[in-house]
Amino acid sequence: MCGIVGYVGPRYATELIYNGLKRLEYRGYDSAGVAIIDETSGRITRRREVGKLDRLGQLLQEQPTNGHIGIGHTRWATHGAPSARNSHPHASMDGDVVVVHNGIVENYQELRAELQAEGVVFASDTDTEVIVHLIALYLNQGHGLPEATRLTVKHLKGSQAIVAMYAKSPDQLVAVRIGNAGGVTLGVGDGEMFVASDIPAILEHTRQMVFLESHQMAIVKADGYVVRTTDGVPAQLDIHDIPWDAVAAAKGEYDHFMQKEIFEQARTLTDTMRGRVDFENGRVRLPDLELSEDEAQGLERLIIVACGTSAYAGLIGKFLIEHLARLPVEIDYASEFRYRQPILNDRCAVLAITQSGETVDTLAALEEAWDTGARIWSIVNAIGSQAMRLADGYITMQAGPEIGVASTKAFTASIIDLYMLGLYLGELRGVLSPAELRQHVNALMALPDLAGRVLDHDDEYQALAEQLSGYKNFLYLGRGINYPIALEGALKLKEISYIHAEGYPAGEMKHGPIALIDETMPVLTIAIKDHVYDKMLSQIEQARARGAVVIAVATEGDEFIKEKADYVIYVPEVSEMLSPLVTVIPLQLLAYHVATLLNCDVDQPRNLAKSVTVE
Ligand code: GLU
Repeated sequence: MCGIVGYVGPRYATELIYNGLKRLEYRGYDSAGVAIIDETSGRITRRREVGKLDRLGQLLQEQPTNGHIGIGHTRWATHGAPSARNSHPHASMDGDVVVVHNGIVENYQELRAELQAEGVVFASDTDTEVIVHLIALYLNQGHGLPEATRLTVKHLKGSQAIVAMYAKSPDQLVAVRIGNAGGVTLGVGDGEMFVASDIPAILEHTRQMVFLESHQMAIVKADGYVVRTTDGVPAQLDIHDIPWDAVAAAKGEYDHFMQKEIFEQARTLTDTMRGRVDFENGRVRLPDLELSEDEAQGLERLIIVACGTSAYAGLIGKFLIEHLARLPVEIDYASEFRYRQPILNDRCAVLAITQSGETVDTLAALEEAWDTGARIWSIVNAIGSQAMRLADGYITMQAGPEIGVASTKAFTASIIDLYMLGLYLGELRGVLSPAELRQHVNALMALPDLAGRVLDHDDEYQALAEQLSGYKNFLYLGRGINYPIALEGALKLKEISYIHAEGYPAGEMKHGPIALIDETMPVLTIAIKDHVYDKMLSQIEQARARGAVVIAVATEGDEFIKEKADYVIYVPEVSEMLSPLVTVIPLQLLAYHVATLLNCDVDQPRNLAKSVTVE
C-alpha cells in the first residue's frame, strides 16, 4: 500500500527520493520519512513526519541531510497510529541499519516478544520494526547485510516488500519481495540504481526496469545489481523498457488530478482503442490475449474478478460480453472469490480488472485460478504490473498514469476494453456477422467526440453541485446496463465528498430503499432513451410522490422528462451498449464539484489509497 523509493549513485539522494515519493503519495499518506547515509558523518540520518509529504519536505529544509545513498517511504498505517514515531524508515537501536516496508508481518507479536526477551527496546508500535531488529541481530552475528536480510525474512509470515540499508556497507541497498503485498522495481541507470514500489517514482530517471518476483531479493549498488532467491539461488530477470511519459503524471492546468483525469477521457477513450480497433476493416484485434478461434469457441464461462470501481466496470462487461459474444459471464468481488473455492476448469476464463495491476485481493483471486486449467486474463493500466505478468493474456487500458484515488479514466478505459473483448469473442465464436461487427466498430468511432460534448457542459454540473452539496444522503438509480453506473456514481460521491450515497438497480427501489425516500434524500436517476426508459419514468414518479428532489440523466431532445424531474442533465444520444461511457461522466463531475465545494481533499480522500496492496 505504501510507496517506497531508494537510490544509490553519484547524485545527492535526498531530493531525488523526496521527488520520487511525491509521485507515489497517492498510494498512502499518513506519514512519510527518509533515511540517508550522511556524507559528512557517515551515519544514518532519518527525517520523519506525520501527515502529508509536504511536511516532510519542510522538515528536510529545516534539517537538511545529504549523501549518495538513501531510502524513503510514504506510509499507509496497518499497525500503529499515523505518527512520526511510527513512520518509516525504522532503525535498529544503534541506528546503523534502517528499513522501509510495505505489507504486514502477520506474526509480529510473537517476534516482538522474542526480541524484547533478548533486550530489544522498541521505538514504535508498528509490525515493521521487528524486521530491523532481526536484521541487526544477524549483522551483530557477523553476517553481511544481504545475508542478514535473507535470514530475517525467513522469520516473517505474510506478504512483504522490504528495502534495507546499513551504515557500515554504505554502497548497497538490499530489497526483498515476498508474496503480493507490493512490487519491488529496480531502475537501472547509468552508474546509478533506483529501487521503487512503483514505476512512476523513478520514471523520470530511467525507463529500464526490473521487477522482482516473489521470494527474490536484490543487492543493489551504483554500478549494478544481483538478484537471488531468498534461498540464495542466483536468478536472472529481464530488463523491461517502460514507455510511459512521466510528464503525463503532472497536474498541468487542472486543480486536481481527478479533474484532469476526467477531462482526459475524450482522449483516453481513443488511446484505449488505438492499435486494437481496426476502423478501416471493421474489426477488433487483441493479439495480447493469445486466444485462438478454437479456444474462443471452447469457452463456456467467463468469470470477472475485481474490486471497487473495477468491479462495476466488470458488471457492465457482463452486459456487453453476454450480448456481443453470447458467453455467460459471472462477476465477483475478488475479495470474495478468493475465499469461496470457485468452480473452475479448462472451459473457463478468469478475467481480473485492476488499474494498478497490484491490487492484492485481485491477484489472490487470480491465484485461485492457477492449476485449474482456466485461462487467466487481465485488464490493467500499469504496464509491467503483476496482474499483467501473471496472466496468460491481457488487454491494457492505455489510459496513462491515474493519480487521483477515485478512479475515472481507468473506469471508462476498462469498459472500452470489455467492449473490445466482447466484439473479439463475438467474432471468434461466430456470433457476430462481419456486418454487425462493422456496425459496432463504427459506433465506437463516435465515442470520444460524444465524451467531449458531455465534458463541455461542466459549468452545468458545477451549478447543480451548488444546489445539491447541502444534502446528507443520496440515492442513485439505474436500470439495465446503466445500473452499474448508478453504483459507480454513488461510489464516486461517497469516496471523495464523504456524503452517504447508495446505488441501486431501479427496480429494487420498491423492495427496500423507498422507505428512506423523503424530501431530504435526492434521487439521481439515469433515464436515457433506452428499452427501459418507461420503467425509469415510473421510478421517478414514485420517488417524486414521496417528496424527493429528482435529478435525471436524460437523452438530448427529451423534453418530456423536464416535467418529471427537478433537474435534468442531458447527454448525447448513443447506442445503449455504449451509453455507460457518456452517462458516467456527468456523475464523476458532479461528485468532483460537490467534493470541492465541501473543501474535501479530492485527490487523496481520507482512509483510501490508490492501489490497495494490503488485504
Ligand atoms: N505494516 C506497516 C505499517 O503499518 C507498513 C504499512 C505500509 O505498507 O505502508 O507501518
